Amino acid sequence: MTWDASRETAERLDRDDGLARFRDEFYIPEGSIYLDGNSLGLMSRRAEKSLMEVVSAWKEYGIDGWTSGEFPWFDLSEKLGEQNAPLVGAEPGEVIVTGSTTLNLHQLLGTFYRPEGKRTRILADELAFPSDIYAMQSQLRLHGLNPEEHLIRVASRDGRTLEEEDLIAQMTDEVAVIVLPSVLYKSGQLLDMKRLTEAARARGIPIGFDLCHSVGAIPHRLHKWGVDFAFWCNYKYLNSGPGGVGGLFVHRNHFGRMPGLAGWFSSDKSIQFDMEHRLTPAGDAGAFQIGTPHILSLAPLIGSLEIFVEAGIDRIREKSLKQTRYLMDLVEKEMPGMNFSFGNPVEDHRRGGHVCLVHEEAVRISKSLKEKGVVPDFRAPDVIRLAPVALYTSYTEVWEAVRILKEIMETKDYERHEKKRGVVA
Ligand SMILES: *Cc1c(COP(=O)(O)O)cnc(C)c1O
Repeated sequence: MTWDASRETAERLDRDDGLARFRDEFYIPEGSIYLDGNSLGLMSRRAEKSLMEVVSAWKEYGIDGWTSGEFPWFDLSEKLGEQNAPLVGAEPGEVIVTGSTTLNLHQLLGTFYRPEGKRTRILADELAFPSDIYAMQSQLRLHGLNPEEHLIRVASRDGRTLEEEDLIAQMTDEVAVIVLPSVLYKSGQLLDMKRLTEAARARGIPIGFDLCHSVGAIPHRLHKWGVDFAFWCNYKYLNSGPGGVGGLFVHRNHFGRMPGLAGWFSSDKSIQFDMEHRLTPAGDAGAFQIGTPHILSLAPLIGSLEIFVEAGIDRIREKSLKQTRYLMDLVEKEMPGMNFSFGNPVEDHRRGGHVCLVHEEAVRISKSLKEKGVVPDFRAPDVIRLAPVALYTSYTEVWEAVRILKEIMETKDYERHEKKRGVVA
């Protein structure tokens, strides 16, 4: 196909798009092209509906809402775990919807980080999300170990991406556990989880992944690959709302382990209300819950996950790749000489759900874009993240966003703005 940058082409891509109908399910902020679904997914009508149903159950049943109504609260975390499981390639019982990304990482390190003899180190990377690093550092301190010495952060060669072979080279007999991202939050690089897991298993080191930037955007095969554990938030591509309850995966091989951080919701549910002081943990990933689930923050996920079941994660990934490719093509071919480059790998198999556009004026360009109705997000010092989300972003919006970006560059509109990032950026 020869390159065609016309708006008609974008409109034709929308007409031929099998997922286009899902856009009507979402509340798109008035007058905006929302390219920030990798930070906070938009609200769908179905998520709103399930939230309101749970609110009504509280109104109607009081305490009996735990066991009554359409979505009884007592086993809601397990039910949502079952629905979440196909998105990460898990078997029944391996996923529980609970906690938050950071809390779940603490729980999983509390469970899987067992320093012994010379195996004392945690292997991570220097591009990891800060919260993950803080959790690992504090877990080391809890074991009386110095993070400076015992946390290995594998270096990036280019400051944006990681090489699998560099990560594997550091999987030594001093490493007790490995924690890596699936997709890097800034550059959008997708790591080869299968290869990394094989390497870790061959060396007898437990490995876990932070799936925040891949869940809901990319298919996974966690069970088949033999990943030991994983954790994520549901409020990015899974659209469960700000602060929505997160998720975790524990491979069946580890069922029956005592949770590192226990609470009464870690219990086998059939005997939880016996109120014994001796914990009998659930026989599956449910054991890694701690206390009473945050029901109101779980509720939107009920409706949201239905949409993923209908749309299918493979179709979502296919469209997402096509949209990020289209976006990169437009930038590359329509805006030469404007000093943009891509921080993300350009190959399909190494690219996550967003494009990492690099420019030394990224802060001011982001402000200009936002003022003109395009919602990107800025990551210091020079990154503009743009995420077309398969369920609600149209090709025409991608086209229009690039047209606006080009106009901003041609008129130097960004120069009107201050070179300083906002508090939430
Ligand atoms: C969004 C994100 C988090 C957020 O953690 P919370 O505990 O949900 O605040 C953590 N890690 C990564 C990689 C993220 O992208």
